Amino acid sequence: MAAPVDSVLSLIGSTPLVRLDKLAKEEGLKCNLYAKVEAFNAGGSVKDRIALRMVEEAESEGRLIPGKSVLVEPSSGNTGIALALVAAVKGYRCIITMPEKMSMEKENIMKALGAEVIRTPTEAAHDSPDSNLGRASALIKEIPNAVMLNQYDNPNNPDAHYYTTAPEIIASLAHTAQSLSTFARPSTGLCDVLVAGAGTGGTISGLSKRLQESNPDILVVGVDPRGSVLARPEELNKLEEGESDQYKIEGIGYDFIPGVLSHTSVHHWIKTSDPTSFAAARRLIRTEGIMCGGSSGSAIHAALEYLKSEEGAKKFGQVEGKNVVVLLADGIRNYVSAPWLTAEAAEEKQQ
Ligand code: PMP
Repeated sequence: MAAPVDSVLSLIGSTPLVRLDKLAKEEGLKCNLYAKVEAFNAGGSVKDRIALRMVEEAESEGRLIPGKSVLVEPSSGNTGIALALVAAVKGYRCIITMPEKMSMEKENIMKALGAEVIRTPTEAAHDSPDSNLGRASALIKEIPNAVMLNQYDNPNNPDAHYYTTAPEIIASLAHTAQSLSTFARPSTGLCDVLVAGAGTGGTISGLSKRLQESNPDILVVGVDPRGSVLARPEELNKLEEGESDQYKIEGIGYDFIPGVLSHTSVHHWIKTSDPTSFAAARRLIRTEGIMCGGSSGSAIHAALEYLKSEEGAKKFGQVEGKNVVVLLADGIRNYVSAPWLTAEAAEEKQQ
């Protein structure tokens, strides 16, 4: 048994890399398919890593003082939960602005952790005073000692992944090359393909930078919902005539390019839709027992689409020993009452 830890903040990071053998077999893939399961972080998502790092770096610079400073941050929920968790443990007041479309579960969790939650209209453009970013920017002027760590521009966002998530993936995969077990499968020992969604872009940019240092030949695939503008080339973001730019998937996609998203870090983009993303999340839960959230479904769908494409199959999907890592950003806890997990899942079962 491991030694006791000082607080739950020590339970951020060191998440597992899990083989998706059943899924890979169903899809006829020869490569090794893995999920980096970020729901195992203390606050339940990949964003715990950035919240902890942004707060601790600001504390070391003297920008944040426990018991005095007030954390104000716009979020699609997971950074909000993560900051609320860090704020609870360290003793900060915390206010999160979050668009209406994000789940009630996220709001309830933040409130349980003692944070205040302000909902903002989902349709408000990022530069409107009514958006979550606009409301947070106004609040830091009104509230004494308020600080916005600003995940969209804060270098500690990608750095959290450069210094923690990526080295964990590299170390986990290094084991696969060294294993002498009779069950050992062929493995390059490297991360050959990374697939991750982009919201702020911090996860994919930080991971890409560090993973490329250990494998310059890595292919980094970014996942962006239809209706968002993050993908490149820009033609990918064009909508069909009459198609809405609104989507239900939470946590990925934006109507502007955040400062921490480095487009040069992403080699290939795949656009995803709500129905295929939710169906992929339900499939992962059912077949592998990995209780992921909706954006993880987008990432899984995109990974399979790429690995089954002509280029993807030839270079990776049909090559024994290649390691493909899909980052699963959060878990089912944030969506237990969401229609995609309940009503739509029941409909799917009947078909
Ligand atoms: N999926 C979910 C569920 C998220 O909350 C986020 C964070 N917005 C992401 C993916 C994307 O992470 P990042 O902001 O680092 O691009």
